[in-house]
Formats: sequence, C-alpha cells, structure tokens
Amino acid sequence: MYDTIIIGSGPAGLSAAVYAARARLDAVVLEKAAMSGGQMVFTDQVDNYLGLNGKSGFELAMAFREHAEAAGATFQEADVKEIQKTEEGFVVLTEAGEQLQTKTVVLATGAIHRHLGVPGEAELAARGVSYCATCDGAFFRNRIATVAGGGDTALSDALYLSRLCEKVYLVHRRDTLRGNKELQEKVFQTENIEFLPCREIKEIQGEGKVEAIKVVDNRTGAEEVLETAAVFIAVGMEPVTAYAASLGVLDEQGYVIAGEDGKSQVEGVFAAGDVRTKAVRQIATAVGDGAAVIQSVETCLQGR
Ligand code: NAP
Repeated sequence: MYDTIIIGSGPAGLSAAVYAARARLDAVVLEKAAMSGGQMVFTDQVDNYLGLNGKSGFELAMAFREHAEAAGATFQEADVKEIQKTEEGFVVLTEAGEQLQTKTVVLATGAIHRHLGVPGEAELAARGVSYCATCDGAFFRNRIATVAGGGDTALSDALYLSRLCEKVYLVHRRDTLRGNKELQEKVFQTENIEFLPCREIKEIQGEGKVEAIKVVDNRTGAEEVLETAAVFIAVGMEPVTAYAASLGVLDEQGYVIAGEDGKSQVEGVFAAGDVRTKAVRQIATAVGDGAAVIQSVETCLQGR
C-alpha cells in the first residue's frame, strides 16, 4: 500500500512528487500520457515564473519532470477511472483495470479547455478550430486568425498569433478584458490585432475547414460574418475531476474544495494546483500547492 498516490503530473503534481520523494514517502505519480507538464506545455512563453523568465511551457515542464525524477519520484502511466474509500485508505481504479491501494491521494489533475458550444466548433475541430495557439498557430502563417476569450490565455494567444498571422481578431463577450494589464497593453499596442468587444461567436463556418465566423454584437444584436482561417478558443478551463465525483469533495463546478493546505472535506483526500478552489491559477501557485500538500499528507500519515 502506497503512502500517497499523486494523480496528475502538471506543475502541482510534479512539485508534490519532489516533496514526497524528499519526505521519503512511498509514492507514485499517475499520469494519463507519458508526458508531464499538463496545460503549461501549451504555453508559448512563460514570463512570470520566478527566475526562469522566457522559457517555453514545454521547456519548463521538462525541467520540472527531470527535477522530480532526480529527486527519486516514481511515475506510472494510468488513466484513473474512480477512487473508492476503504477501511485502510483508498483504492485507485484505472481504466486498464488496475487497483492501486493507498493511504492517501493527492488530486492534481488540473483543468482542461472549455468549449464555446456553437455550431461548427465540433465539426471543424482540428480543421481550423483549435484550443492551442502554440500547437497549431504555424498552420495559419500569413492568414487571418481569430481568438475567442478575454483572459490571459486569449491575450497571450493573440500576441503569439500576431507574430505569425496577417491579422488577428480578438473576440470577447464584454467591453473589458479579464487578462492582466501588461498583456492588455501589449495587445493594444499590436497593430495587427483587432479587438472586437461585446461580440459573441454564434457560428463557425466553412466547408471542410474554417472559412468564417458569424459574430453578434451583444449590445445591438447586429450580426456580421468575418473571414478567418482559424478560430483559437481560449474561454477558460474546466476541472478534470469526474473520477473523484463519488468522494464528495467537489463544488458545483467540479473543483475540489480545499484551501492552501490542500486538505479536502474527506480525510486522506488532498488537492493541489488548478483542480482545487482558489483565486489564482498559475504555474507558481500550483508549484506552491505541491509543496504545501505534502506537508498535509505527512501530518495525516503521522496521525493514523
Ligand atoms: P479565464 O481567466 O477564466 O478567462 C476566460 C475568458 O473566456 C474570460 O475572458 C471569459 O469571459 C471568457 N469566456 C468564458 N466562457 C465563455 C463563453 N462561453 N463564451 C465566450 N467567452 C467566454 O481563463 P484563461 O485565460 O484560460 O486563464 C486561466 C488561468 O490561467 C488564469 O488564472 C490565468 O491567469 C492563468 N494563465 C496565465 C498565463 C500567464 O501568466 N502567462 C497564461 C495563460 C493563463 P469573461 O471575462 O466575460 O468572464
């Protein structure tokens, strides 16, 4: 039986793995695919992680992974289906039919891209509709691209695409952007980004590939069709927690209710990173969570 099973290998999971290894816990990190980093690998350039300014998300993820391995962390590829509470602790059930016994679990599965849910989005996915500008932006070099959203991701994506594309529409449903002021300033200073406030994408159009979007001005109801070769959807994230639904630790949006110490409402169940209820979801805060959560795990194990 493990002391703890860390589910997820983004910055929170990898940080927890380092701290668990240093605490000499019998731990394993379960990761869905044999690639660490979580959502950060899709970030072109990370400018706000202390001391490592300008690295790509992928480079940072590889550095985190190497650090965890060097500290002695163990990894296993596994898609977690469910977690069941038992007398002794928990059983982690995987899609492959494995049953892993553990005294505690650390949920660090982060969050994934939210969809717009408009006609054409699913039909034209990977044919111009994308959730990752740094992965797919290069396919639209010297073309017109659209970014949907007004948060940090949308602004970073618009800036990244502005360096590749002829023009970028930034379509946002409100008149003010949510993203940080520095990114906003850069966006407004970039000539080939056109900000379309108070607009909602109603439809993504095209035969076999994205050709246009229908947008509505939500102040006037006026509709227009804009030519675009790609739509990058950056409208936020949803937590990856379906596997933990039966534990009774989730809020109505699916986030694990847990404070900075990572303790959930159920003893032995902990959360770290974007998956937990928190105000600021950043690589830096996820890494901090990983450290704090293992402290809580140790306290829990000592009290058993
Ligand atoms: P976010 O901050 O939640 O922003 C989502 C944006 O999408 C908001 O502007 C929201 O509009 C809009 N939106 C949500 N649902 C929509 C819908 N159905 N239709 C149209 N628009 C919709 O998400 P995020 O930008 O992905 O950022 C997530 C977290 O990662 C944040 O904490 C962010 O700071 C962090 N992050 C940081 C960096 C960085 O530091 N370099 C880069 C990327 C992400 P409203 O504004 O109207 O709600």
